[in-house]
Amino acid sequence: HAAQPLGAMLRNAEAAELYLASESPDLAELRAIVSDIKSDDQRARDVIERMRGFLRRHELVRVPIDPAELVEGVLGLVRPDARRRDVRVDLAVDRDLPPVAGDPVHLQQVLLNLSVNALDAMEAVPAETRVLEVRLRAADGGGLEISVRDSGPGIPAPAMPRLFEPFFTTKAQGMGMGLAICRTLVEAHGGSLRAANGDGRGAVFVVHLPEAEAKG
Ligand code: ADP
Repeated sequence: HAAQPLGAMLRNAEAAELYLASESPDLAELRAIVSDIKSDDQRARDVIERMRGFLRRHELVRVPIDPAELVEGVLGLVRPDARRRDVRVDLAVDRDLPPVAGDPVHLQQVLLNLSVNALDAMEAVPAETRVLEVRLRAADGGGLEISVRDSGPGIPAPAMPRLFEPFFTTKAQGMGMGLAICRTLVEAHGGSLRAANGDGRGAVFVVHLPEAEAKG
């Protein structure tokens, strides 16, 4: 049973069409398919409701963020998982980072999600080549750039334009909500989240946060 409900509904609807095209459609089978579609519809509603609940419960706060501390906190959570999956974790922090403000809980959630996606992607490559690289730098046009890079297979061209769509997933047990939520959270900070393929191999996700305005 696929985790992602919209895809399951589409496949069931297509199966129903096939049954309906036959001379004497199997009504019992059709009834079962319709009942599956209804329960998948309910699952989709539940996912959306949980996500709304999360966003509602946690009101957006805006406090000064120490980017290195934020990233260290996330990597603290990621490292045990990375070790288990034979992934080396590299952190690079440039000097003179611009001040940023935001919601630490939400930003942590974003970086955690990007990191876990990176670990998932690297299951497809030999253990000795697996590297997760997080880098903090001042962005060229101002603001802070946090990049999460992996050495996995990269993002296939057909997936690229759909990555941030709700319920887009290529994983058997994926829900496809992670990147959609990440982008929503980053944009709520006045920032942006972009995906690209690295030179040579792997994918890189870049969070850009605007520089915090000086108080006064
Ligand atoms: P999920 O992890 O449940 O699939 P996401 O929204 O987090 O949902 O990711 C959507 C899809 O984007 C993934 O199923 C995968 O196809 C692609 N993706 C995300 N991160 C990476 C990555 N680091 N490398 C390659 N593909 C990725």
